[in-house]
Amino acid sequence: MANNTSTDSSDHTSASTTTIAIVLPALFVVRMARLDKSIKPQHFVDWMSKQTAEHPEITIAQNPLCVICLEEIEDAANIRGLGCLHPFHQQCLDDWYSRWNEYCPLCHRPIIQSTKAKGDASEEASRETSETSERAVTATSMV
Ligand SMILES: [Zn+2]
Ligand SMILES: [Zn+2]
Repeated sequence: MANNTSTDSSDHTSASTTTIAIVLPALFVVRMARLDKSIKPQHFVDWMSKQTAEHPEITIAQNPLCVICLEEIEDAANIRGLGCLHPFHQQCLDDWYSRWNEYCPLCHRPIIQSTKAKGDASEEASRETSETSERAVTATSMV
């Protein structure tokens, strides 16, 4: 394994490794910032009363399971409630999303739904993290 690195493109290899080392963390920051902007963390009770007010036709379980950690979501827990009305612990969803999962683990709908404000969000994110994130944003649109 150690002797195998010097093919014709050793220069390219080290260059792209550096790029990955820079872009990946930047991508990560942009990604988590976007999550935080789209789905604000809140207490489960608050989220629950808001959802039942906005969607009287649906019933949300009193203390649903967070399927990521398989524990009950308590009233005072910090959660992120997705657009599909599935709540998860904030930490659990952050962890889930930070491992490049794009979809709700329960119903497989996108965690961040593309709304009209889509371009707006990525613009703001790139302003926050200076010049490295420009490359990151390019990479995002390629994915
Ligand atoms: Zn959880
Ligand atoms: Zn869902």
